[in-house]
Amino acid sequence: MRYAIVDGKKSEAQPKLKGHCPNCDAEMVAKCGRVKIWHWAHKGCPPCDPWWETETNWHRAWKNCFPMDWQEVSHIDPYSGERHIADIKTPYGFVIEFQHSIIHHTERYEREAFYKNMIWVVDGLRNSFDLTYFNIGISGPVQNNPLAYKINWWGRSRLLHNWADSGAKVYLDFGGENLWRLIIFDSEKNVGAVGPISKEIFIQNCKNGEPISVSYIDEEEK
Ligand SMILES: [Zn+2]
Repeated sequence: MRYAIVDGKKSEAQPKLKGHCPNCDAEMVAKCGRVKIWHWAHKGCPPCDPWWETETNWHRAWKNCFPMDWQEVSHIDPYSGERHIADIKTPYGFVIEFQHSIIHHTERYEREAFYKNMIWVVDGLRNSFDLTYFNIGISGPVQNNPLAYKINWWGRSRLLHNWADSGAKVYLDFGGENLWRLIIFDSEKNVGAVGPISKEIFIQNCKNGEPISVSYIDEEEK
């Protein structure tokens, strides 16, 4: 994790620092090695949140777009008491999960059901050829408002299949200036539609608690 509680404050890992988990209060040790990004780990036990994913620079870069208080926030179900750590939880009660590794569809459903008001941002650069297949497969636009492009998926990975039936909005991050919302995808025909939105606007919308914008082509300007 990026943060632990040290002397009552949310703190990043520093060599030899000790802290407590903001989610379960267990003792945490700072891991400040040369290979992995500096982080906190539960002392002598696995993470208290089974949904926790080892952080990458990609996760950190995204979290950095939001205030510290919004990062790694415990979300507690008021009825069951079940608790998990949201990557970003805004003061508006809205959760953003950044997903790098492949997630089993059962866990995906569970997470969507738990957070309810959430979206996914998915790392599209996890597999080296996915960006190339995305660029080859995209055509259009097929719709101007909101702007949508057709996507044929010829990639060997199941990047789009894995998110096709998500109950939450899914935004693919291929490292460019835009995110691509997966609007629809037919897993059998390997075809769907995606809509671009600038990352800057996406972040602004999330920060302001606004609905996330969609792009469009102004009919009169064409
Ligand atoms: Zn914990």
